[in-house]
Amino acid sequence: MAKTPFLTKEKAQEIIKEFPTPFHIYDEKGIRQNAENLKKAFAWNRGYKEYFAVKATPNPFLINILRDYGCGCDCSSLTELMISKAIGAVGEDIMFSSNDTPLEEFKFCYELGGIINLDDITHIDAVEKACGKLPKKMSCRFNPGGVIQMSNGIMDNPGDAKYGMTEEQIFEAFRIMKEKGVEEFGLHSFLCSNTVTNEYYPMLAEILFKLAVSLKNKLDVKISFINLSGGIGIPYLPDAEPNDIFAIGEGVHKVYNDVLVPEGMDDVAIFTELGRYMMAPYGALVTTAINEKHIHKEYIGVDACAVNLMRPAMYGAYHHITVLGKENEPLSETYDITGSLCENNDKFAVDRRLPKIDMGDILFIHDTGAHGFSMGYNYNGKLKSAELLLQENGEVKLIRRAENPKDYFATFDCFDVFDKLNS
Ligand SMILES: *Cc1c(COP(=O)(O)O)cnc(C)c1O
Repeated sequence: MAKTPFLTKEKAQEIIKEFPTPFHIYDEKGIRQNAENLKKAFAWNRGYKEYFAVKATPNPFLINILRDYGCGCDCSSLTELMISKAIGAVGEDIMFSSNDTPLEEFKFCYELGGIINLDDITHIDAVEKACGKLPKKMSCRFNPGGVIQMSNGIMDNPGDAKYGMTEEQIFEAFRIMKEKGVEEFGLHSFLCSNTVTNEYYPMLAEILFKLAVSLKNKLDVKISFINLSGGIGIPYLPDAEPNDIFAIGEGVHKVYNDVLVPEGMDDVAIFTELGRYMMAPYGALVTTAINEKHIHKEYIGVDACAVNLMRPAMYGAYHHITVLGKENEPLSETYDITGSLCENNDKFAVDRRLPKIDMGDILFIHDTGAHGFSMGYNYNGKLKSAELLLQENGEVKLIRRAENPKDYFATFDCFDVFDKLNS
């Protein structure tokens, strides 16, 4: 199966006249269609709500598109909470799924009326200290330990993950929280990242639903929501089978009917905190080939680098690359596609079969819409790129300008680089 870019070469050339490469561009139509389908897939659950994981793509214009489909914000830092507040997502539109949390952030979330999802049992005291008392509605994050195995093998290793509480701690935490006045409880867990299987959510739902039944029966607490968190993946590889969100929704529905409904828990709301699934396929990094080098291997240097997209350097992640206008040409060459950082892992692709690339060719790096721009940094004094939105009407809107040197030097409060340059 070929991966099709949402831009043609002609459209990209037209955009580049106004906004030079590199830039991230997002496809509004794709984002909307996907959000609509997610909503439909969980429409069987009355209280269903998606809290978009803000860290994946912290851009107010993009999150506002998701707001049209009832999405809230899943935050885990001060600035993410600030973005949420700024776009009007407050109160129960905020899920604060943080870890290693500073007291001030609990306090800020509390003031916004957001739902605090505790990563650790010691945070009960922390929230009390920060906020004066516990909110009426709170949630705890569960870590079952061990390894998670599904039909396609070992998926992840929660036993090695820093997040969440043990089962014993969850019982203890709920007991204490109830004593301290919490009236409504939620349960959360995030076991595996980027799962490309329809089994993951139903498997996780079963674990959490059974735990919820046991908590309700042993402690007589009201469980009002279960948060399946993130983790639904996307097919980065061109031959990977995409997830079927309707099969996933139905899979969770079946477990809900089997486990919760017989216990009279048919009013429990299902929450999700998807990031990657909501945005990754609908963003791309567009970059121009500016250097070629023939040594022990064939290199193509582009004007983007790991600062713009860190996943390949950080995890060896695969991002498909299309050379715009050469979609139908034979994959006759083997290239490393590199950025300009003084770091040998600054490669968007290694030994990738691609058509012959000429200088000035435009490369479309797929699936950068989540954990792409947002993971960026400023190594080598490189500046972060612009973000553009390809709107449904075909027009392109600048939704974040590119950084300039002034931004980069702005935090030297007592040292004006421009002043020295001109003296
Ligand atoms: C990162 C994160 C998410 C989103 O994960 P995806 O893999 O993008 O779906 C959701 N919840 C929490 C707590 C996270 O840290």
